[in-house]
Parts: sequence; structure tokens; C-alpha cells
Amino acid sequence: MTETVDSGHALQGKVRPLTPITAKSRDGEVQRVILIEGSANLAVLVLKLIVALATGSVAVLGDAVHSLTDVANNGVAWVVIRLSAQPPDGQHPYGHRKFETIAVFGLAMLLTVLAFELGMRAIQRDLTEIVHTEWALGLMLCVLAVNTSLATWQARWARRLESDILRADARHTFADVLTTIVVIAGWQAAARGYPWFDVIAALGVAVVILVLAYGLFRRCIPILVDETALDPNSLMEAVFTVSGVVGVRSVRSRAYGSLAAVDIVAVVASDLNTVESHEIATDVERAIRERFPTESVIVHIEPAEAAGYPRRDRED
Ligand SMILES: [Zn+2]
Ligand SMILES: [Zn+2]
Repeated sequence: MTETVDSGHALQGKVRPLTPITAKSRDGEVQRVILIEGSANLAVLVLKLIVALATGSVAVLGDAVHSLTDVANNGVAWVVIRLSAQPPDGQHPYGHRKFETIAVFGLAMLLTVLAFELGMRAIQRDLTEIVHTEWALGLMLCVLAVNTSLATWQARWARRLESDILRADARHTFADVLTTIVVIAGWQAAARGYPWFDVIAALGVAVVILVLAYGLFRRCIPILVDETALDPNSLMEAVFTVSGVVGVRSVRSRAYGSLAAVDIVAVVASDLNTVESHEIATDVERAIRERFPTESVIVHIEPAEAAGYPRRDRED
């Protein structure tokens, strides 16, 4: 065999830890919590939109856009649990996890556009229009109450279900409460004769939305460009625990949703027969699956002499 070993390029890049697989039994509960979150976020979105339109505050409008992103996020989480976790079928033999990746990428693009729109609107607007009304302030206090109880409730369910998704959601909702407080302060200051406070708060919200978009891009782009998902050295160590393996020509991994797809070229003694080689390949696959959250493990076996591979002593 003359193919060159590309040990460098595919194995470079940042190694990202993968989150463990969610247990199937909890999915129903997590799904219910996400549905309730989504409804609360939708209600909050409507309240903020009413206040923004009635008072002319761009900061509150920005906060409404932020709520829109929260609703969309809940939608993505829903897609992940309902669609992405489905087993492979004839049309999608590698599973459905990339539906999540596409949804996250689309959401990140949407957030980026909305953040720039919001920034432009904040800068170009007529500063004299912002008004204060008692009922609008009342609605915003309602928003704060809903979000505070939502965050507390999410944190409780996150602990009960030991769900990373819900834990992250709870943290995010607490951050939303702080954002809304800043927005209310900006709007109130603007309505009392300091219009620039509303612009500053709106620009702050735009930055928050951009940061959210950046986080989403970081989640989906490594998957889209097949970045290395598991530490190649740890993978190689795992392969060398299998007796009969005398060398490893390549280890590659890429993320597939929250799991990894791994392919390995292992070198064995040339005089082994097919049954013996196959047994070693199966052992390698098992060694990888035991240690890493994997979607698929593909093992290619090469004979030592034909590969021109120098014997490598096992470390144990
Ligand atoms: Zn939010
Ligand atoms: Zn399908």
C-alpha cells in the first residue's frame, strides 16, 4: 500500500469535550419543560413588543428581539429531542443529528442580522419620541416576574433531571432578567429626558444578541467543517489497549451532533487470518465505544509488512 499517512492535518485543531448522551427516559420530561419554557418566552415576547410599540423605546424593542431568539432556541431544543435523536432510516442512514446543526446555523445567521438591524435602528432613530406610561412599566415588571420564576423553576428541573440543556437555559434566563432590568432603566431614563440612555441600552442588547449568535456559530461550525472532535492521543491510547494491534496509521474523529464519528487504521501482524483480524477490529471498536460517546466507529485493518510499518511495542 502506498497511501501516505496524513497524521498531521486531520488531527490538528482544538479538541472539544463532548457532552454525554441524554438518557432516553428523561427525554419526555425535558421535552415538557422545554414546551413550558417556550410558552413563557412567547408570552414575554408579546408583552415586550406591546411596550416597545406603545412607548417608542428601541431598548425594549431590542429586548423583544432577544425574546424572539429565546423562543427560537426553545424550538431548536425541541427539534434536537424530537427529530435529531431518531434512529437512522433508509433516507438518512447516518442518522438525523445534522438537522440540529442546520437549525443552529440558521438561528445564528438570523440573530446576526437582527442584531445589526437593531443597532442601526438605535443609532438612526428620532430621540424625542420615547414616552413613559404606568401600564407599560407594569407590563415590564410582569416580564421580570415571569422570567425570575421561570429561571428558578428551570434550575429546579435541571437538578431533578440532571439535564445540561435545562441547566444552561436556567443560567440564560437569569441573565435575561438582568438584561431586562438594564433595558427598563434605559427606557425610563430616556422618557425622563435623557434619550441617549435608551440608545445605549439598545446597543447593549444588540451586543448581547451578537454574543449569543457567536456561541451558536461556535457550536455548529466545527461540526459543519468536520473539526477534530476527540483527542487523537487518547484515541490512540485506547486502540493500543487491544492485544494484537502493533501499530496505528491514522485516527480521525469528527463531531456528529453531541456524539463523535471515529475512523481508525490499525496495523496487525501479516500472518493473521481473516477471522483473527476481524476479532481485533471488533475489539478496537469496543475499546473506543467504552471510552468515548460515539455515533460510529469504523476500523480498517492493515498487515504490518505490507504497510511497511515499523513494529511498535505496546506500552503495557
Ligand atoms: Zn434570552
Ligand atoms: Zn430520515
